[in-house]
Amino acid sequence: MFDHSSFDAHEGVHMFHDADSGLKAIIAVHSSALGPAAGGCRMWNYDTGEAMLRDALRLSHGMSYKNAMADLPLGGGKAVIWGDAKADKSPELFRAFGRAVESLKGQYITAEDVGISVSDMQIVREETAHVAGLDEGDAASGDPSPITAMGIYLGILETAKRALGTDDLTGRTIAVQGVGSVGGHVCEHLAKAGANLIITDIDQAALSDISTRTGARIVAPDEIYDVDADIFSPNALGAIINEKTLNRFRVKAIAGGANNQLIVPEMGELLRRRGILYAPDYVINGGGIINVCAEISGTYLRDWVDAKVKALMVTLGEVLDLAMESCEPTNLVADRIARQRIGRTD
Ligand code: NAD
Repeated sequence: MFDHSSFDAHEGVHMFHDADSGLKAIIAVHSSALGPAAGGCRMWNYDTGEAMLRDALRLSHGMSYKNAMADLPLGGGKAVIWGDAKADKSPELFRAFGRAVESLKGQYITAEDVGISVSDMQIVREETAHVAGLDEGDAASGDPSPITAMGIYLGILETAKRALGTDDLTGRTIAVQGVGSVGGHVCEHLAKAGANLIITDIDQAALSDISTRTGARIVAPDEIYDVDADIFSPNALGAIINEKTLNRFRVKAIAGGANNQLIVPEMGELLRRRGILYAPDYVINGGGIINVCAEISGTYLRDWVDAKVKALMVTLGEVLDLAMESCEPTNLVADRIARQRIGRTD
């Protein structure tokens, strides 16, 4: 593991196997410089154990950066469970995972990620208190998506100020990829602000619902990269900024909530050269972890969450300004600030 290309001086990488339930899990703690490592648990049917390890290393690393940029008292960690989320779940599996989390004595706090639901986390809660993202309990924070979406909307305004010279979106066109939990709310904010929307999704029901409510024009999934728009807001998949899409974008900025939008970090520089201002994903989409952090603190205060999200968007503006002044890609400027905040100065 120490030679692994995704290893970044992770503080701990813990492997768990429970023969009775079939649990195979990895909990990776990247950094606890700012507090206990927090990050969701993903259940995925990996092709190999190597792919699973790489995901745990990369995702936990990303959480350190996200939590640092949101100025939260949390380090970065992530858990991955090897299995098919549709076929392999059982209460025993999640209890075994709960015991794994508990064995780390609070070094890692878990929550939902891809493939994991609130009800799964309620079973985990039977074995450990180091779990968040619940919808019951004194400090329960519930679904983070509306807060994530509010942050993305505010982040789009910050990006528009710099890329379009104004944050008045009246009559501006925004292309939105994915109108699910996050993208749907983003569309509603944008429509209220007077923007014209072009939307795509693979879920026809979600598309027609959002189109009816916002007047958005619908395009086929692959057409979204070619539309004439001011801003592209990806809220579905990762790796959508790649060698195939890069030269198709006809926008001035990209600002959306999807995780890991750049297929490789070098795409940031290529976007810059094309004159497209990119809002780094883990900065603009930090609203959800802010919401979870309020729950972890033991007292959920909505005013604190709102103030923190607004402050994060000021940070996003600073990242964009620094990058524009120094002619650097925005993603590398964000990485540098995040690394400084967690005391990694290499
Ligand atoms: P979601 O599953 O509710 O929505 C995703 C939407 O994308 C769905 O409607 C889906 O049909 C659509 N989609 C899938 N493939 C597509 C394709 N090829 N083209 C167009 N649309 C497609 O998920 P979500 O919670 O809204 O999350 C969206 C993104 O934001 C993910 O990348 C997630 O990791 C990230 N994110 C979410 C949160 C949160 O609070 N939910 C926080 C931070 C980051």
